Amino acid sequence: EAKRAGKGRFRVFEPDMQVSLRERRELEIDLRRALALRQFRLNYQPFVELEGNNIRGFEALLRWQHPVRGNVPPLDFIPMAEETGLIVKIGEWVLRTACEAAVSWPENLTIAVNVSPLQFKSDNLLDTVEATLKETGLAANRLELEITESALLDDTENVLATLHALRGLGVKISMDDFGTGYSSLSYLQKFPFDKIKIDRSFVVGESSDSQAILKAVAGLGSSLGIAITAEGVETSDQLEHIRSQNCTHVQGYFTGRPMNDAAVADLLQSQMRKNTNA
Ligand code: C2E
Ligand code: MG
Ligand code: MG
Ligand code: MG
Repeated sequence: EAKRAGKGRFRVFEPDMQVSLRERRELEIDLRRALALRQFRLNYQPFVELEGNNIRGFEALLRWQHPVRGNVPPLDFIPMAEETGLIVKIGEWVLRTACEAAVSWPENLTIAVNVSPLQFKSDNLLDTVEATLKETGLAANRLELEITESALLDDTENVLATLHALRGLGVKISMDDFGTGYSSLSYLQKFPFDKIKIDRSFVVGESSDSQAILKAVAGLGSSLGIAITAEGVETSDQLEHIRSQNCTHVQGYFTGRPMNDAAVADLLQSQMRKNTNA
C-alpha cells in the first residue's frame, strides 16, 4: 500500500528532479554514517585583533571528506544535518574535537565553535558544553560559541535562559553572520553577546546600504562594549576600510585561510619565534 503510494508520488516529478531527490537521499544515508566512518575533519581559521595585529584565536570549520564526492562544503550538508537532527551528534563531535585542539595552544588563544539553531535549542546543550570543558580540560573562557540570528527567533525566555547559563559557565557568545537573517539591532541589546560577527556581505559590499549597515552595527557594538569582527576580508584595501570603522577584530582570507591542525601548529610556532626575536 505505502509502496504504491510512494511510487505514485514519484511520478509527479520531472526526471532530473528524481535524480536530485535520489542524490539527496543517498547523501543523507552517507551523512548518517559519516561520523562513525570518521569522515569529518576540522579546519581552523585565525581571527586577529586589529589593535596590535595579534591572533586571538581560531574558528573551527567543519569539513566532510566524502569517499566518492571528495570534500563536500558545509553549506551542502549542514542544512541537511539540521533537518534530520544529525547536527546534534555532529555538533558534539565538533565541540569536543575543537576543545581538544585548543588545549594544546597558548592559553591566550580562544576557540570559536559554530552551534546550529537545533543544537542550541536541544535540551542537553548546557550539559554537553560543561562536560566537554571538564573532560578536555579547556578553560571555559577560552571557548566562544557562535550562534546565528535564527536561533534567537522564537521562545525568547528559553533562549535568554540558555545564553545566561552558558555565560554562567564562563563561555563567550558570538552573534554570527549578523545582518543576514532577521536582524534587528534590538537583539544586540536584548541578548548578552560578547562579540558580533558582521557578515562578509556588509564588509565587502560597496553599496551605500551595506556601508551604512556596517557603520551602524560597528558603532552600536562600540557603544555597547561588544567586540566586532569583520568577516571575509580578502584584501588590504578592505582591511584598511574596516580599520576606519569601529571593528575590533578581523577574520578573512587576507589574515589567514582555514587550515588543518598541523598548519595551525606551524603558524603558532612561527609566531612564537617572531615574538621571542622581537
Ligand atoms: P561561518 O560560521 O560564517 O564561517 C565563515 C565562512 O566564511 C567559512 O566558510 C569560511 O571558510 C569563509 N570565509 C572566511 N574568510 C573568508 C574570505 O575572506 N572570503 C570568503 N569568500 N569566505 C571566507 P565554510 O567553512 O565554508 O563554512 C560555511 C558555513 O558553514 C559557516 O559560516 C557556518 O555557518 C557553517 N559551519 C561550518 N562549520 C560548522 C560547524 O561545525 N557547525 C555548524 N553548525 N555550522 C558550521
Ligand atoms: Mg561562524
Ligand atoms: Mg560567520
Ligand atoms: Mg558568514
